Amino acid sequence: MAYVNTNFTKVSESYLFVEVARRIKAYQEKHPEAKIIKMGIGDVTRPIVPAVIEALHKAVDEMGTAAGFRGYGPEQGYAFLRDKIRDFDFKSRGIDIESDEIFVSDGAKSDCGNIGDILGTQNIIAVTDPVYPVYVDTNVMAGRAGDFDGIKYSQIYYMPVTQANGFVPALPDRHVDIIYLCFPNNPTGTTLTTSQLKVWVDYALREKSIILFDAAYEAFITDDDVPHSIFEIEGARQCAIEFRSFSKTAGFTGLRCGYTVVPKELVAYTEDGKPVALNKLWNRRQSTKFNGTAYIVQRAAEAVYSTEGRKQIMENIAYYRENARLMKETFESIGMPAFGGKNSPYVWIKTPLDSWTFFDRLLDECHVVGTPGVGFGPSGESYFRLTAFATHEATREAMERIKQWKL
Ligand code: PLP
Repeated sequence: MAYVNTNFTKVSESYLFVEVARRIKAYQEKHPEAKIIKMGIGDVTRPIVPAVIEALHKAVDEMGTAAGFRGYGPEQGYAFLRDKIRDFDFKSRGIDIESDEIFVSDGAKSDCGNIGDILGTQNIIAVTDPVYPVYVDTNVMAGRAGDFDGIKYSQIYYMPVTQANGFVPALPDRHVDIIYLCFPNNPTGTTLTTSQLKVWVDYALREKSIILFDAAYEAFITDDDVPHSIFEIEGARQCAIEFRSFSKTAGFTGLRCGYTVVPKELVAYTEDGKPVALNKLWNRRQSTKFNGTAYIVQRAAEAVYSTEGRKQIMENIAYYRENARLMKETFESIGMPAFGGKNSPYVWIKTPLDSWTFFDRLLDECHVVGTPGVGFGPSGESYFRLTAFATHEATREAMERIKQWKL
């Protein structure tokens, strides 16, 4: 008899986007004439920029020549990309990160999930509420979450982030071992300032905890006092791992590339208190379970750092940012508080109704689709997420409808 990993049977159904799709389908069938504008899914829509496409073509052609062909590459990523990341994402900001602390991957989602392989199952996990569901579900799969009561898992420590606390999570009132922080945040679109993030670094150092810092939306940051990397903060090399992604930065949601930074000083402990360096463990994990990101994709990612590439991707980000600005302004103009949208492609709206009723009314009366906040966690109730990834035309049209809306 083969036994199943029963942890997987404890993962709550991914009800949110399935239910959203079901309601849209049902509505569209009843109202085939309705021109529905979708602002729910967090996927980019602008095409890959020319500098990156050119690099891709060149790499494809290379692979067709005897001299340029590449087989298995280094599991950690090619030096040409790791060095660019080191110089442009870190050294240029005065952050000391070496190339062998950077592990190139097929994206931040895999890394956020896989990192649990090198961390003990006895760790107490803390997440913000609402939260990017991957942090919770991967810990359920690993057996760290306890039982689900229909709302929360018994062993996970939830930290509410709402209008009431300015979307700044309070330090836990007890010891936690692993803390997931995502800033700029999905779904709230809000950020922490350098001094607010420092509070967390100090906590982690004091408690010998580890912060798993997800900076997938770093490229959207415009405010000067919002850190682009947790490693801008003194002491973070001793207590943090950072995840980055080319998905939202450069439209790589389909190409797939990201990276994870594991500083050499960072340790976790054995039960008898012996420190173990995580950089070595992650290297071992990746070399064993991962065979590297495609060469052509790494060449494409490298082109993101060229002068032209950077200019072009920033134009796309500015495009999305303009949508976000308009969305936030529109909701505020009709008296609904709206958060995020400045350093982030997400606008998080405080609604006068519960999240699902708001969803249904917005669909029915404006033919606009977003994501009910409660789907990201209980503290997301009465909030609603809209993404800035639609076209300008669709965004403007949606906002016009909302301005006329009598809720
Ligand atoms: N982290 C956060 C917070 C996200 O919102 C997403 C995607 O939506 C990811 C990671 C996934 O990134 P990737 O496409 O690199 O896997």
